[in-house]
Amino acid sequence: MRGDAKSMTVLSPRGAAEAVAAYAKAPAALPLAGGTDLMVGWNVGVLNNRTILDLSRVSEWKKIKASASGVEIGSLVTHSAIQTHPVVARRFPLLAAACATVGAAQIQNRGTLGGNIANASPPATPSRPSPSTRPSCACSAPPAAARCRCSRSSRGSRRPTSRPAS
Ligand SMILES: Cc1cc2nc3c(=O)[nH]c(=O)nc-3n(C[C@H](O)[C@H](O)[C@H](O)COP(=O)(O)OP(=O)(O)OC[C@H]3O[C@@H](n4cnc5c(N)ncnc54)[C@H](O)[C@@H]3O)c2cc1C
Repeated sequence: MRGDAKSMTVLSPRGAAEAVAAYAKAPAALPLAGGTDLMVGWNVGVLNNRTILDLSRVSEWKKIKASASGVEIGSLVTHSAIQTHPVVARRFPLLAAACATVGAAQIQNRGTLGGNIANASPPATPSRPSPSTRPSCACSAPPAAARCRCSRSSRGSRRPTSRPAS
């Protein structure tokens, strides 16, 4: 069966607060970032009858903030943006290099770090950075914001979760 857009409900929050509130009301909704992984499911119809949480207007999660202690990369930052960010390139060259291995340029331009981590595919390189960088993930999903090691942000291979394991 192919994807059937008419069977889907699409929520389009205009910012982070609206996105978190929409997800609280519809916890079974599937967040949609770049769509490079989700579109595979669309093609075979597994998204039919699902609620989609379109994150494309959440500008707060598209930013990279550098500080003395590290960098905070919003979940919607693309692999291309990570590679070209001067602070990431200088201080976290392995992450920039990993993002450069993702698919081709088209995939790097659309695919996001958050989608890569949430998708938890075993061969994914950007979500497996050097342990020496001690990456952690911040989660805004209800019932409460949380921070965890990135390795705990999924329930296993291709079993994404927006609720980190403790
Ligand atoms: C041709 C092709 C080649 C590829 N090559 C590679 C490769 O070499 N290496 C690699 O690692 N990956 C590869 N990928 C996979 C994919 O491009 C990446 O994993 C990408 O980073 C996914 O990001 P996205 O924004 O497109 O995610 P989406 O497709 O939008 O979402 C992926 C999953 O994450 C969830 N999600 C997305 N954003 C969030 C969020 N903010 N909060 C909670 N959950 C969220 C979605 O609900 C979904 O379950 C490839 C894909 C394609 C189609």
